[in-house]
Amino acid sequence: MTRVKFNFSAGPAVLPEEVLKEASQAVVECGGTGMSVLCMSHRGGAYEALHMEALAGLRELLRVPESFAILLLQGGATQQFSQVAMNLAQGKPADYTLTGQWAEGAYKEAGKVATVRVAADSRKEKPARMPLLSEIKTGPDAAYLHITSNETVDGTQWKEFPTAPAPLVGDMSSDIMGRDIPWDRFGLVYAGAQKNLGPAGVTVVIVRKDLAEKAPTTIPVMLRYQTHVEKDSLHNTPPCFSIYVLALVTRWVKAQGGVAAMATRNKAKADKLYAAIDRTGFYRGTADKAHRSVMNVTFRLPSEDLEKAFLKEAEAAGLSGLKGHRAVGGLRASIYNAMPAAGVDALVSLMETFEKKNG
Ligand SMILES: *Cc1c(COP(=O)(O)O)cnc(C)c1O
Repeated sequence: MTRVKFNFSAGPAVLPEEVLKEASQAVVECGGTGMSVLCMSHRGGAYEALHMEALAGLRELLRVPESFAILLLQGGATQQFSQVAMNLAQGKPADYTLTGQWAEGAYKEAGKVATVRVAADSRKEKPARMPLLSEIKTGPDAAYLHITSNETVDGTQWKEFPTAPAPLVGDMSSDIMGRDIPWDRFGLVYAGAQKNLGPAGVTVVIVRKDLAEKAPTTIPVMLRYQTHVEKDSLHNTPPCFSIYVLALVTRWVKAQGGVAAMATRNKAKADKLYAAIDRTGFYRGTADKAHRSVMNVTFRLPSEDLEKAFLKEAEAAGLSGLKGHRAVGGLRASIYNAMPAAGVDALVSLMETFEKKNG
C-alpha cells in the first residue's frame, strides 16, 4: 500500500519526508550508537544529546530569551488548560478571550482551579473571527490574559497579538514555529507538538522563569513547572521518541531558513488556497477575511452532498484529511509547515475540476 500523497489532517499532522526517513532508520539504529532510539536510557549521553538539541533548536528558532525556560512535558495542550492556571494564577483572577473551540476548553478547565473572567467573546460571530483589540476588557489585576493564537477548528488566527497590562498566555498548538513571538508581551506559550512540531506525545511549554518560580509549592510535583525548569525536563522519563523527532524537525526548519522562511512559505500556500476559494461563489470561506488562519483553511461547498462528493474525490486523488471538525462540518485543509506547496497545488487543481463538473 502506498502512503496518501498529501495529508491535510489537523493533527497528528504531516511531517517532513526527510524527518520520517531519518526517524524510521533510528528506530532500528540511531546515529552510530548501535541502539534503537526507542530503547535508550533517558539518563545516557546519547539520548541526552538529542534532548538538549531539541531544547536548543527551539530556543534558537523561536528566539526565546534567557529569561524563559523551555519545558518538554506530557499531557498535551489539554493538560496545559488547567496547569497554566494552577501555576500562574497565583491568587489573582485570570482573563480569557473566548474565540472558538479550543479557547473555550482552556477557559473551562482553568475555571476548575482558578477564578476566570471573560475578556472578550467572539465565539458566535459569523463569519468566525477573533475579537478586535478594542473589544478586549482586561486589567492590571489579572494574573494573565489567555489567547488561542490559532483556532484549529474554526480556521481563525490572531494576526496581531493583544497588548495587555498582564502577561499573555498563548495556546500556540497550531501555529507555533510558523510566526514570530513577541516575547516581551508573553508570560507563557504552550503547544502540543503534533501539529507543527513533531509527533504526538510531547508538549512544549515556554515560561518566564520568574513566573514559574512563584507558583505555589503545594502543586503536585509533575504539575509544577518549576520541577521541570530545575531538571531540564528530565525529572522523570520524558517522551523520548517524540522529543527525538522534535529535534529532527528543528534541524529541518533550520535547513529551510528558519521561522521567517516558514512564515513566508505558509502565507504563499494559504494565499493560493484562499484565492481558489474566493474565485467564484462556489466555495465559501467560513472565517472572516481579516482573521483567516494560514494553517487551517476552513471552507464549505454549496451543499453537504457536494462536500461528501468532494471528500470522496479527494481521497481517490490521494488528498487525505480534508473533512472539517465534527463540531463545525464543512472542509478544512491543514497546511502546516511540513505541507509542501505541491500539496496545495494539487488541492487547488482538484477544486477547479470539481467546480467545473458540479458548479
Ligand atoms: C490540538 C489542539 C489542542 C489540544 O491538543 P492536545 O495535545 O490534543 O491536548 C489545544 N489547542 C489547540 C489550539 C489545538 O490545536
